[in-house]
Amino acid sequence: MSIVFRDDDQLVDPAVSCDRCAAVCCRLTVVLMPDEVQPAHLVDVDHRGLDVMRRSADGWCAALDREHMRCGIYETRPSICRKFAMGGAYCRDERKTHARNPAPLPVKPAA
Ligand code: SF4
Ligand code: SF4
Repeated sequence: MSIVFRDDDQLVDPAVSCDRCAAVCCRLTVVLMPDEVQPAHLVDVDHRGLDVMRRSADGWCAALDREHMRCGIYETRPSICRKFAMGGAYCRDERKTHARNPAPLPVKPAA
């Protein structure tokens, strides 16, 4: 599923925090804008011919820092990730979807 922004996404639930979330939004398809460049090993081309962030076999974005369950390229993350509002409607929807049908959490890298 790709990210689609909605009118009600500006209504934010302040109780929601990424610190207490399994980064479930990082399982969504992230389309890169034409002027966005990411390292080749983090990029795939989807069935529409669009550059997207690669997702690993576990379903999470290949750029996820699996030890801390947060973006591993935070400073240079794609624009669509920058627009994704913590606690916004789409975030809340993804959290509900994951709560109903939780995906197995990624295996953390060996210490
Ligand atoms: S933006 Fe929402 S879904 Fe994504 S990590 Fe933060 S709380 Fe979780
Ligand atoms: S680039 Fe970062 S914020 Fe965006 S989906 Fe991947 S891990 Fe999540």
